[in-house]
Amino acid sequence: MKVIKARARRAFSPTKIPRARWVINQYIGCQHACRYCYAKFMCKWYDYGKWGSWVIVRENIPDLVRSKYVAGKVYMSSVSDPYQPIEEKFELTKKILENMNKGIKVSILTKSDLVLRDVELFKRFRNIEVGLTVNGFKESVKNDFEPYSPSIDRRIDALKRLCESGIKNYAFISPIIPKLTDVEKIISDTRDFVAYHFFEFLNFRAAGAEFRRLLRDKYWEAYEVMSNEAKFKRYVKDMIEVIRKSRIKIGGICLHDPKFIILK
Ligand code: SF4
Repeated sequence: MKVIKARARRAFSPTKIPRARWVINQYIGCQHACRYCYAKFMCKWYDYGKWGSWVIVRENIPDLVRSKYVAGKVYMSSVSDPYQPIEEKFELTKKILENMNKGIKVSILTKSDLVLRDVELFKRFRNIEVGLTVNGFKESVKNDFEPYSPSIDRRIDALKRLCESGIKNYAFISPIIPKLTDVEKIISDTRDFVAYHFFEFLNFRAAGAEFRRLLRDKYWEAYEVMSNEAKFKRYVKDMIEVIRKSRIKIGGICLHDPKFIILK
């Protein structure tokens, strides 16, 4: 893992991420190295190698948030996981939360149960929510798609423990991929202890050609639906029906680019 130490000019950057006004990226790059990661485009700007093999550590961000206030929700993070393994060593996420004005609205999303380390810090904020990504991929699929992130069971357990600690939590069901994501089961496994569910269908375009090839070559049934507009529309309709019938609180349902990409 290549670690590049850097300094940032500012901590809070404006963002177009739905429901957020600002984003903090204390790390750029992610050790979880998910094959479908939408942040892979960062490799165009940073020539350090394959996505997942490097992380830029912006060491001064904890100092930059000190005594600043921003109105509107701050999202953490958009080009990394704030609780990827390197956080255990550098603790930038923890230091940012320690230094940040506790009146700022914060939304955190991670795939790691390392997030539980900071529960006492979360309690000091007036408005904070912590989400864990849950996609229910069975082990062989997870090994292909996101081999370095903690297991789905650990993430579900983290959601339960956040709830028990009184922290507002949410399950981020993503990416939803036909034949591979059992939405109904995820809802049933998590509904008793999450404040709400947010659903995101795979962004076939942003997932990149390499991931599309992986789907085509190894998960043909999923690829067939993702690459066929009529089949995908029917799938989405069915899933939305499943979601609505479950009578859970829905934070949102995200569908991406309506154009369909078919590998030649
Ligand atoms: S955890 Fe998130 S940011 Fe990290 S590689 Fe996976 S999808 Fe990308």
